[in-house]
Amino acid sequence: MVQRTLPEKLSILADAAKYDASCASSGGERRGSRDGKGIGSTTGAGICHAWAPDGRCISLLKVLLTNFCIYDCAYCINRVSSRVERARFSVEEVVSLTLEFYRRNYIEGLFLSSGIIRSPDETMAEMVRVARTLREREHFRGYIHLKTIPDAAPELIAEAGKWADRLSINVELPTEAALTRLAPEKSVKTIHGAMAEVKARGEAAKDRTARGTRAPRFAPAGQSTQMIVGADAATDGEILRRSSSLYNSFALRRVYYSAFSPIPDASRMLPLIQPPLVREHRLYQADWLMRNYGFDASEIAPPAGMLDLQIDPKLAWALAHRGLFPVDVNRAPREMLLRIPGIGPRSVDRILKARRHRTLRYEDLLAIGCVLKHAEPFITLPGWSPRALPDDANLRARFAPAPEQLSLF
Ligand code: SF4
Repeated sequence: MVQRTLPEKLSILADAAKYDASCASSGGERRGSRDGKGIGSTTGAGICHAWAPDGRCISLLKVLLTNFCIYDCAYCINRVSSRVERARFSVEEVVSLTLEFYRRNYIEGLFLSSGIIRSPDETMAEMVRVARTLREREHFRGYIHLKTIPDAAPELIAEAGKWADRLSINVELPTEAALTRLAPEKSVKTIHGAMAEVKARGEAAKDRTARGTRAPRFAPAGQSTQMIVGADAATDGEILRRSSSLYNSFALRRVYYSAFSPIPDASRMLPLIQPPLVREHRLYQADWLMRNYGFDASEIAPPAGMLDLQIDPKLAWALAHRGLFPVDVNRAPREMLLRIPGIGPRSVDRILKARRHRTLRYEDLLAIGCVLKHAEPFITLPGWSPRALPDDANLRARFAPAPEQLSLF
């Protein structure tokens, strides 16, 4: 094997990790080291921003332990049949890089993933050793996110959760058929089994024992997953239904959507062009509506349907359900207020609080923070009536970007 220097390994293994988008650090425990004990904090500044080729910003020291892999997932640049430069960190190298980057204030923590070397258990055991060494020996209190290998033994997943803030297990593709075709060594059953294991251990960790002591810590920031969008023919409706089922079944904190980007030396099973990045953005918006606005996946996009790329999914829903509008802001229940474009959960709370004492007027909505440009056709209250706006055939055009003349060159 070629002997590589540490900077060479870092360059290869940080680059190889950039395709994984599931590394946001929201929801973690708040820890610090101002008391002079340990090192690091989950709350301070000092974030290293990694930029994926398509412009997304990704924080943390985000590396692979190795990009050698015995699996052959068609969408992955690190698959065994790919002719990329390979490298492998030792446990000590990742530990020392994390500490050095932390001390220099480049990062707030570590996101560690890996190709599968020799066996899932052996790989997972090495990743766990990195996290354990950072926590036990170096007293590192920063954020740690470990990518979990679904086929790894449950004891290793249990230990990973002891040291990491968050675990993630990628479902990779929206449908079982696509996973079988593009990632033949992986199975939906194993992925779901590992997610169920993480969920059960996370719930157990929140309980107290019969004597009132706390159960052992387990990944307090929960688990997340990532789905690749556009590598197969799954519709947005299928993707959102899958996400909804994952949220309900495994208490996931987040599903991350990663627009498939063509990789060098790509498999012929993959499309030649990437989906528009705005599709990824619309899926995030739709996901947000499911988690925070009470929308059901099938309401936002029918199973066989795609999201409107030109306008956001909440506006698209309102335009398709004009018969429910305009909504009387002073009388509508919370659920209906949440469905008005331009009004978010925080504004709804403020509206509900304010209208207990008085009748709200149009000007009050401005002070509350509503985006009236979006809300106007869908609301009525003293000082504002949309008149015929909800029935206007050209209402969508008011929000969609103006059509552009295609260039000949
Ligand atoms: S197991 Fe992971 S690293 Fe290996 S080919 Fe599949 S996606 Fe890539």
